[in-house]
Amino acid sequence: LFISFEGVDGVGKTTQVERLRAYLEAQGRTVVVTREPGGTALGRAIRKLLLHGVEAGGADISPCAEALLFAADRAQHVAETIRPALERGEVVITDRYLDSSLAYQAGGRELTSKEIRNLSMWATGNLLPDRTYLLDMDPALSHNRLEHAEDRMESAGSDFQNRTRQAFLDLAAAEPDRFRVIDAGQPIEAVWSAIETDIAALLQ
Ligand code: C5P
Ligand code: MG
Repeated sequence: LFISFEGVDGVGKTTQVERLRAYLEAQGRTVVVTREPGGTALGRAIRKLLLHGVEAGGADISPCAEALLFAADRAQHVAETIRPALERGEVVITDRYLDSSLAYQAGGRELTSKEIRNLSMWATGNLLPDRTYLLDMDPALSHNRLEHAEDRMESAGSDFQNRTRQAFLDLAAAEPDRFRVIDAGQPIEAVWSAIETDIAALLQ
């Protein structure tokens, strides 16, 4: 079973990932929790580049180069972590996966979504999640929840964040079987309860 969580920054993905982990482990399942970018050692090196840019004096990372770095992170993530765990019969929960690339690199940075999708499908050997929880809320509100200093990606501005949010919603509408859209503006318990109801039905 392969589950991804998606949504703009600050919607509470990490909290809900941990709730779901606890729920599944209590049922005796082995759960691997992971994230993008940065789920592997190579991925953590790539994450540093993406979040903090290159050394002083280097030019900004181009949108194309950025998309390829995310794809490289994802290729390694699938090869090293996700696919082996699924083959062992474990549950994999990832905090972000290819829909983030479609939403941020295609929606936000305005690259062609067909190209980003093809790139991701090539990088992952066509591995899609069984279920994707899109935690949706207004980026202007979710941004206030971030407790750390902004990184390079988070400071992109509200037009970028709004395009990204809308891109996530469009992706969910196009694949209603895989996606569940959850109002992340609700209290944490209500968000969890929506996920719990769905996962219980999925596991039936
Ligand atoms: O979710 P997390 O904070 O780990 O993501 C790191 C940063 O990378 C975030 O600011 C997120 O908006 C950005 N990101 C992105 N494109 C992706 C995945 C994440 O711009 N495909
Ligand atoms: Mg972040």
